[in-house]
Amino acid sequence: MTSQDLSTIPCAQLTGVGVKLSEKLSRIGIITLQDLLFHLPYRYQDRTRITPISQCQVGKYVQIEGHIIHSEVLRHGKLQLICRMSDATGEINLRFFHFNAAQKARLSQNKKIRCFGEVRLSRTGKEMVHPEYQQWGLQDDPVIEETLRPVYPSTEGLSQQSFLKLTTQALHFLNQGHLLTELLPEAILIKLKLPNLKTALNYLHRPPPDAQLTILEQGTHPCQERLIVEELIAHQLSLQRLKQSVQKEPAPVLKTTKAYIVPFLDNLPFKLTLAQHRVCQEIFQDIKKPHPMMRLVQGDVGSGKTVVAAMSLLAAIESGYQAALMAPTEILAEQHYRSFQTWLAPLGIKITWLAGKTKGKARNVALTQIENHEVQLIIGTHALFQDAVVFANLGLAVIDEQHRFGVHQRLALREKGVGDNCFPHQLIMTATPIPRTLAMACYADLDLSVIDELPPGRTPVKTIVIANERRDEVINRVQAVCQEGRQVYWVCTLIEDSDTLTCEAAENTAQALKENLPTLNIALVHGRMKSAEKEMIMADFKTGKINLLVATTVIEVGVDVPNASLMIIENAERLGLSQLHQLRGRVGRGSVESHCVLMYQTPLSHLAKQRLAIMRETVDGFKIAQKDLEIRGPGEILGTRQTGVVQFKIADVMRDTKSLEKAEQVAAEILSHYPDIVTSLVKRWLGNSEQYINA
Ligand code: ADP
Ligand code: MG
Repeated sequence: MTSQDLSTIPCAQLTGVGVKLSEKLSRIGIITLQDLLFHLPYRYQDRTRITPISQCQVGKYVQIEGHIIHSEVLRHGKLQLICRMSDATGEINLRFFHFNAAQKARLSQNKKIRCFGEVRLSRTGKEMVHPEYQQWGLQDDPVIEETLRPVYPSTEGLSQQSFLKLTTQALHFLNQGHLLTELLPEAILIKLKLPNLKTALNYLHRPPPDAQLTILEQGTHPCQERLIVEELIAHQLSLQRLKQSVQKEPAPVLKTTKAYIVPFLDNLPFKLTLAQHRVCQEIFQDIKKPHPMMRLVQGDVGSGKTVVAAMSLLAAIESGYQAALMAPTEILAEQHYRSFQTWLAPLGIKITWLAGKTKGKARNVALTQIENHEVQLIIGTHALFQDAVVFANLGLAVIDEQHRFGVHQRLALREKGVGDNCFPHQLIMTATPIPRTLAMACYADLDLSVIDELPPGRTPVKTIVIANERRDEVINRVQAVCQEGRQVYWVCTLIEDSDTLTCEAAENTAQALKENLPTLNIALVHGRMKSAEKEMIMADFKTGKINLLVATTVIEVGVDVPNASLMIIENAERLGLSQLHQLRGRVGRGSVESHCVLMYQTPLSHLAKQRLAIMRETVDGFKIAQKDLEIRGPGEILGTRQTGVVQFKIADVMRDTKSLEKAEQVAAEILSHYPDIVTSLVKRWLGNSEQYINA
């Protein structure tokens, strides 16, 4: 038997895998035996021992063995079969809701039984509901399993039993000398104290009885770490390669003449903060080089990223190029358009605007102006990516609030380069705090600048947490604030993932508030409204015509109305902390003290209480992200919206921060000492998704 690489053997070669099963497997990304072996269990069941009934802990999955000492059918609403089971140490109830006559007979008094299930506590004591059970004759005692039983992430129609059979076969292939090439050099494995690939896979698919379940389930076992580190290294390498290749490409040299920048700064009603100034310098250093800048600017909500964007755009325009600013929502793009009109029109700079909804004549005019260089600055949504958009000579693009754009989009923008095969410089701005290690994993192709200072004269927003029942008090507060000439946001949150329901709820809330607050001018914005309508309302809010703006979370990013000093967020417990932080950042932009009222639906869980307390305690986005991570574990910082940024098979960038650091070091070591393995590593873990790198 010649040995073959497992990444080239399709699962269809395994016994019992026909067309249907192959299809189901491929639906969850399992095509080859390598894919199958990299599909790791997310839990394990310990059926390697029998737990004495007296030692069964509530909430734990255990295996028990004993006799049925009593069995009866009861009707508590539903018909149910209750069996009292006993071993030498104690007794427990088994409860079945579905049973036929044959099963009832098998579960009768004196029958021997072995059960596996979760121990629960009911009014009558400890019990198992619908345990898996086995019974056997006098001679053949059932075997005790020798390894922990894996539970695999699955999909409809793919049973755990199939996974067991398939992985058993795949492991057999692996252990029979078929290859899953060990890509990491031995010296590195020894240094990291990590096992080789074959050992790790055998262990994870069939852990021995003494394996520590908690460590495995936390994903911190060395065998897991071994795979996680390899995957993270592969991502690092791929992003670093991308960066290297970008740095070889030509880009326009943008030298600021100060023709626009100086009058722009002179006209601003404030001075740049030191942090804004420093970040601008970092950008200017980049863009005067003949290679594309790929820089990420991170700055907390309200740190003044827009001005930094303006400075960069002006540098491009001064150098005779076009510049583009892209925002994730129409509301935000529209707002930028207005600010830039005010700032730049006096300097004689021509600006146009393009969104998906720009249609007909307006669209044609905009497209012609862009193509003929009749406009120097183009502001819009991702409509700027459309094929019909042809820039005359795009020198620099700024992407605002990047977490709404994926890697693919930021790479697609490069394709909109200037003539002569040059690529535009790119600046990406985000308010999402990114711990350094995470930035390395997800944005290793970018350089990072941080605006780590808020403009002076801000009074931190005070946050109040209040139960929904005290709505009347909140409404009185709204009235008082508006009477002082200030403005208010009232945010309605998502209802059960339904956009329609959420918009309806917002409509109802707006209606109710209008009845309660007849003297105020109240308006509503939500995602389902026409963009022209939204724009008009936002403009009216900005000029102060509207006192109270009822909104869905569409106003989450970027909206800037310094006169707004109160924000109410309904059902705040439904939102992630980072999202709450973004929302809250809409107030506290002027000099008066602002407030944020987080209303919640009672009763509030302990965890939810803790989370809302964090919002009350701090206004620092970075701290909030970190605290949230401590309480909640992975996931929140990137948020669901962001998961498209980088897809990992095994690693979890929030959980595996320690591995991220190791991966970063090892990736550098591999690049310098073992360059030959880079391609295989990247291919193993990114496969075809690396295509964009050669785009
Ligand atoms: P974000 O970083 O959240 O995008 P913005 O760019 O919208 O923040 O700026 C928030 C507010 O702060 C705006 O009203 C802006 O005009 C103001 N601002 C920006 N920079 C300064 C500064 N250096 N001094 C005072 N106010 C500033
Ligand atoms: Mg902004």
